[in-house]
Amino acid sequence: MDQVTVISGCAVATVDARGTEYPTGYVVVRGNRIDAVGAGKPPEFDGDPVRIDGRGCLLTPGLVNTHNHLFQWITRGLAVDSTLFEWLTRLYPLWMGLDEEAVRIAATAALATLARTGCTTTTDHHYMFPPDGGDLLGAEIAAAAEAGLRFHPCRGSMDLAAAAGGLPPDHDVERLDAILAASADAVARWHDPSFDSMVRIALAPCSLFSSTPDLWRESAALARGVGVRLHTHLAETIDEQDYCLRVFGCTPAQHLERHDWLGPDVWYAHAIHLDDDAIDAMARTDTGVAHCPTSNARLGAGVARVADLLRAGVPVGLGVDGAASNEAGSLIEQPRAALLAARSRNGPHAMTPRVALELATIGGARVLGRAAEIGTLEVGKLADLALWRLDTAAHAGIEDPVVALVLGAPPPLAALLVNGRVVVRDDEVRTVAMDRVAVEVTRAQAMLRAKAE
Ligand SMILES: [Zn+2]
Repeated sequence: MDQVTVISGCAVATVDARGTEYPTGYVVVRGNRIDAVGAGKPPEFDGDPVRIDGRGCLLTPGLVNTHNHLFQWITRGLAVDSTLFEWLTRLYPLWMGLDEEAVRIAATAALATLARTGCTTTTDHHYMFPPDGGDLLGAEIAAAAEAGLRFHPCRGSMDLAAAAGGLPPDHDVERLDAILAASADAVARWHDPSFDSMVRIALAPCSLFSSTPDLWRESAALARGVGVRLHTHLAETIDEQDYCLRVFGCTPAQHLERHDWLGPDVWYAHAIHLDDDAIDAMARTDTGVAHCPTSNARLGAGVARVADLLRAGVPVGLGVDGAASNEAGSLIEQPRAALLAARSRNGPHAMTPRVALELATIGGARVLGRAAEIGTLEVGKLADLALWRLDTAAHAGIEDPVVALVLGAPPPLAALLVNGRVVVRDDEVRTVAMDRVAVEVTRAQAMLRAKAE
């Protein structure tokens, strides 16, 4: 018999299409699905359901993280006053020291932090594959299974080295045939297209300045042949745009369009420096965006045109990006950062707190192709839920719980359920020993630095 869990006495923001909210309500979880959600008291049950007292809390869908580089957790706090290209050039040599153990440690720390900040589904974009590194994608997939998060790892890639006019050092890139073989293998080994899938693979050449035209074309053809999504960085900085104009004679958005990188199965990280034509093309084709406001500010990359993207109908989700450019790695800080960035760019009406919460939940689900399964609290959807404690001094007196969540300090998590399983309870990650993680992260970072010397 399926386990039944009842969360009651809380405010509920379902984030459904009508914006249904209950000042006091409940959700019933049966197995890994939402069985009931409503106002007032929950129905009576025979048997012995697990009961979670939600008084003083706000229940929302679990947050969805649409862009990350988990391995970067063990290279935080470096190149802190640099442009993107300077920052990458400083970090590439360190990342070439990655092995399975380093990736396991970094991924575990990053995933536990995501869980502690409300994330139930995350993607990852892993593009560093040192020749003797071992099975790095396998290491992070194992870490996600242990942490208990729903996971969309992207098999990243780079094949355009400095000698051929790219940015990464020559020994950091892979050969095109090796990339395609490893990508096909990753899909065959791990991709699960089923409704309640915990692992879905995507293919993800890293960037314009580290990928050849052949890699764009071949990755798109392979992904479409096997039915997985496509992800990359696009239009992050003016330096990237200048590089693209100089080397390829077009804007970054035009370059990807030429290589068949538009469509409902594609999502771009950042998408900051876009002209109106690029936004129109993305809207027409349902191409998604992972908006990463904290990382963009940390690297001084620019402020994305999110209000324009939303007005045009482009699917937009939020991302923390790698921890080397967002040391906090906190997902609940992203809706707030997105709202502040949008209003800094377009004024006080550019984004409401409820739209910011939508981007962090159903917006992200849409970008990852899972809007039918996650992202709202509706009967039949998967039980990915965040229960936020809003009755401490940090939020007391803020009448509207959605405003308290989005505009206030990151609140403690009373509970986080992923696929019906309790991953966080009373602000503690139950699946990961955090004190051990702290020791391991320090050791792994020292190892990378020693290897790079
Ligand atoms: Zn990134």
